[in-house]
Amino acid sequence: MMSKPSQIAKLQNKVAIVTGGASGLGEETARRFAEHGARAVVIADVQEEKGQQVAESIGLHCCTFIKCDVSDEEQVKSLVDSTVERHGQLDIMFSNAGIVSKCVQDILTFDLSAYEKLFSVNVGGMAACVKHAGRVMVEGGVKGSIICTASVMANYGTGAAVDYVMSKHAVLGLIRCASKGLGEHGIRVNCVAPGPVATPMICGRLQMSAEDTERCFEAEIAIKKSGFLKARHVADAVLFLASDDSVFVTGHSLAVDAGYIPTN
Ligand code: NAD
Repeated sequence: MMSKPSQIAKLQNKVAIVTGGASGLGEETARRFAEHGARAVVIADVQEEKGQQVAESIGLHCCTFIKCDVSDEEQVKSLVDSTVERHGQLDIMFSNAGIVSKCVQDILTFDLSAYEKLFSVNVGGMAACVKHAGRVMVEGGVKGSIICTASVMANYGTGAAVDYVMSKHAVLGLIRCASKGLGEHGIRVNCVAPGPVATPMICGRLQMSAEDTERCFEAEIAIKKSGFLKARHVADAVLFLASDDSVFVTGHSLAVDAGYIPTN
């Protein structure tokens, strides 16, 4: 009788940074990286207490927390440099931290000051992480993997969140340019494009429980009989892009959206 194959660790000896790792998709991905044998997972987030708790629950032998606001390039530079100082190199950057506006942003009522704040995190923060991760990977001769979090909304328009949708379209431009610029060094740059997942971001925005949030999107997804899309499904896709399983995948946007098509 054949024994059940044990899970193969895909990130053995790798050093990873996960921005926005204190919650939602980032937290789940940090856990997945640790489960797959990463030597070090650095959680970077503005939420200090929550970030520390997540790092402790994953295990301080491999996971640590660094407070970092990704919209401040100096903080991103310091995050990346201190990771390399401490762990010797950086193999994986999951640039995931992102925000949504608190209120509806349609094209006629569009609040420009809120838009600037959102862009400083969702676009400037993503770009700073790609830039500095790319820099230390080039310096260290590391053929690393950089993954950003875009969104299924990078492929559609919607009436209610102009600023957010614009920012996620920009992430596609970022990974396409960076994959060209870093490809000659053997560094890959991709993004995941998740559909709706009931994380604190989206539940908070809708002011709904996780169950009601999922119900709210049910009509717009294609896959209906396998439960709802969860953070772990997105984390599995990030793991694929982070690992050597995707060694010739670059400049790609990987949808993990259960076939979501927005109706508005
Ligand atoms: P979340 O709110 O659960 O997690 C986001 C994390 O980012 C939080 O811990 C937050 O503190 C952190 N963060 C916010 N601003 C930061 C900053 N300036 N510097 C560092 N950290 C910061 O939300 P989530 O749903 O896990 O979102 C993660 C990413 O996924 C975001 O980029 C979001 O746009 C994207 N996304 C989410 C969904 C979804 O349905 N949940 C769908 C598509 C894309």
